[in-house]
Amino acid sequence: MDKVAVFPGSFDPFTVGHESIVKRALALFDRVIIAVGENAEKKNLFSITMRMKMISKVFEGEGRVEVTRYSGLTVEFCRKHGARYILRGLRTAADFEYERAMGHMNWKMAPEIDTVFLLTSTEHTPVNSTIVRDIIKNGGDASMFVPSSIIISDYLGK
Ligand code: ADP
Repeated sequence: MDKVAVFPGSFDPFTVGHESIVKRALALFDRVIIAVGENAEKKNLFSITMRMKMISKVFEGEGRVEVTRYSGLTVEFCRKHGARYILRGLRTAADFEYERAMGHMNWKMAPEIDTVFLLTSTEHTPVNSTIVRDIIKNGGDASMFVPSSIIISDYLGK
């Protein structure tokens, strides 16, 4: 049976940190499904369609990565796709507290699904989508924080 991991997130936008987590996860899992969350409460800079497009571009030609949108419970999405693992990245102690609560609650709801955490590589620890969004909104150059195949202006305002 294929080992499938779901990497859920907002990815607004997808950064070099996210890219590195997915690439490393490909050594651990047969397939990774990047699940772009549709959260109506969050004010996004990039539309869900554009976020999916930018991520698909990064993994063009990598048949083991699938990009899809989702809403509702992550564990239900995993069950529907036969995934036994939720993949998350850990940067700081603040990430840990939030991820621990989320991981424990998901585990209570779906004990057959484990959350797997990968520590961020040291150079990607400060990279944060919220700050990248602020740089873009203020006209700064955020290209060093996103994968080289993403040209930010191609996805803005669409
Ligand atoms: P969410 O809104 O679900 O937190 P994000 O898109 O912010 O969505 O993050 C998705 C996942 O990627 C989370 O597990 C987060 O900790 C991880 N992540 C965010 N930034 C980085 C980074 N620079 N390096 C590694 N992992 C990261």
